Amino acid sequence: MEQKFIDIQENIKFIRNQINEATVKSGRSENDVRFMAVTKTVDPVYINHAIDCGIDLIGENKVQEFLSKKDALHLEKVEKHLIGHLQSNKVRKIITEVDMIQSVDSVSLAKEIERQAEKNNMTAKILIELNVGEEESKTGMDKSLFMESFHEIAEMKHIQIKGLMTIPPICEKNSDLRKFFDEMYKLFIDIGHKNIDNVSMDILSMGMSGDYEEAILCGSNLVRVGSAIFGPRIYR
Ligand SMILES: *Cc1c(COP(=O)(O)O)cnc(C)c1O
Repeated sequence: MEQKFIDIQENIKFIRNQINEATVKSGRSENDVRFMAVTKTVDPVYINHAIDCGIDLIGENKVQEFLSKKDALHLEKVEKHLIGHLQSNKVRKIITEVDMIQSVDSVSLAKEIERQAEKNNMTAKILIELNVGEEESKTGMDKSLFMESFHEIAEMKHIQIKGLMTIPPICEKNSDLRKFFDEMYKLFIDIGHKNIDNVSMDILSMGMSGDYEEAILCGSNLVRVGSAIFGPRIYR
């Protein structure tokens, strides 16, 4: 077998173990944290291999890339999430193709999702992405707009908010990430306690290749891992 296939299999096994250890360490039971394989730039043969190795959740960043790869993927038992920045004019193309949009970062995007979901006679599951580090360069909703926008989106009939997502700032030490992860967890719990109609705070999506253990220890229940599974990304 090609070395890359072996590596992917071993990486998945290793990461799964690390996830389970961190989950138990955080006082939860092993299956509490979902393990997403982030598949941007990855060739379908490797994605299918990851699926054969037990991956049941994949995340893609770009609408066009996902649409061009999906027919080659063995997706029968796999959940698909969009995790990259989404432009309103692409919602129409992706809304029926994915199980969740994790990267909803504005009311105007949510309005377009609502419009297209109604057209397709469906309820769109979404996460609200928060720019927790208040970085200019980052996607995600501004903190100052967050609560008001959240309530406005929760009113939309064809959208169900399932939780929160974030990409924290790059930090020198993983321990520096804690304050961002803690802040997200607190928000996640606080909103959950409000029992807002149309909202079920089920998913807190945070943690990537370099920091998924830290994120889990802070309460994440969905980690998005790319390069630690597939190796460094080659952008073409
Ligand atoms: C690329 C990406 C990831 C995975 O990043 P790695 O560091 O390769 O694990 C996770 N989340 C989002 C939103 C991404 O764009």
